[in-house]
Amino acid sequence: MPGFETWGAEERKELQDVLDNGILMRYGFDGPRKGIWKAVDLEKEICKTFGTKYAQLVSSGTAALTTALSALGVGYGDEVITPSFTFVASFEAVISVGATPVLVDVDDTLTLNPEAVRKAITPKTKCIMPVHMCGSMADLDALKEICKEFNLVLLEDACQSIGGTYKGQQLGSIGDAGTFSFDFVKTMTCGEGGVVMTNREDVYIKSDGYSDHGHDHKGVDRGADLHPFVGYNFRISELHAAVGLAQIRKLPQFLATQKKHHTQLKNILSQVPEVSFRRIPDPQGDSHTFLSWFLPTEEQTRAVVAKLKEQGILAGNFYWYDNNWHYIRKWDHLKQGITLNALSPEHKAAVIAQANKEFKASDAIMGRCISTAISLTWTEQLIEEKGSKLVAVIREVLGS
Ligand SMILES: *Cc1c(COP(=O)(O)O)cnc(C)c1O
Repeated sequence: MPGFETWGAEERKELQDVLDNGILMRYGFDGPRKGIWKAVDLEKEICKTFGTKYAQLVSSGTAALTTALSALGVGYGDEVITPSFTFVASFEAVISVGATPVLVDVDDTLTLNPEAVRKAITPKTKCIMPVHMCGSMADLDALKEICKEFNLVLLEDACQSIGGTYKGQQLGSIGDAGTFSFDFVKTMTCGEGGVVMTNREDVYIKSDGYSDHGHDHKGVDRGADLHPFVGYNFRISELHAAVGLAQIRKLPQFLATQKKHHTQLKNILSQVPEVSFRRIPDPQGDSHTFLSWFLPTEEQTRAVVAKLKEQGILAGNFYWYDNNWHYIRKWDHLKQGITLNALSPEHKAAVIAQANKEFKASDAIMGRCISTAISLTWTEQLIEEKGSKLVAVIREVLGS
């Protein structure tokens, strides 16, 4: 997944342009910047690459989710349906706009189970936020259908699936809005950064203003801009955008390499008949950042994880079920509703109630799942070695 593995001359060249003119801010300074507009260039490149009308760069993927939720009008009293398996940023963003994250079970796609989503809808539901986890996608047709039926907005958290597609359309370009993260470990990186993508002009204009203190950006004088609504500062800097510009040009190469490495590793693991793989709603559209696989039982999976650890080869293999940051089981701060800023009593109670539901269907999936991160730097021989070691450990545990 990580574009940082390819850091090189391309990134340094884009950065040098910014260092040479010294204008590190994306807005204003039209004269001194001598025609260097890295954030604007990257936004154009994002629209072209991912097929959206608009793109608003921001300072992180979390900021992108917060901005998109605000631009979609999600706030006080609203419920946002989001999966039990995701990075904490998803629910952080929902809580930060005053809405309640309604956590819902995932299925063997490792993303929202559409039937569970349907059951979670209440009169307060405003938005469905699927998270395209670990490089692959949610069942978007089913979710779009539900959104239509109940008049909900669809916000794709595509932070982990840059370059993945669903039925020929780019992930992140399909909902009312979609977000990417360009943090340091994502498929392409800005160091830190994120983007809101949308085809809706209203959502774009609001995202543009919201992420820069409410500036309407209509004139050439920032000081004379109007502020039609209250915003915040989620701006990206020119330095970060410069890095992203170099990275997005390499993205086709990243994706091709990921696919090649993923395919080789999957072929090796497929030798073990007890190993099954994540279901992918559109297999053509996998971005191949992770190979996610299952063993028949949780005990066997735990035993494999323990053996990998013992042999010092666990790195790069993620057992999300025990992970503090990606699965409901360990989100104690959420379960207890611990925030630094006081929430309204009703909001706090709703957050706590949601986080303390049972997630038996998710547990049954996640307890048996291991995701192997695909590196861009692997060689064919290294994959062969890694794969053989994994197979040996799995066979030893299964006694097969
Ligand atoms: C990384 C990530 C985010 C947040 O991105 P940051 O840029 O780190 O704030 C949001 N959602 C998911 C699923 C992510 O993996």
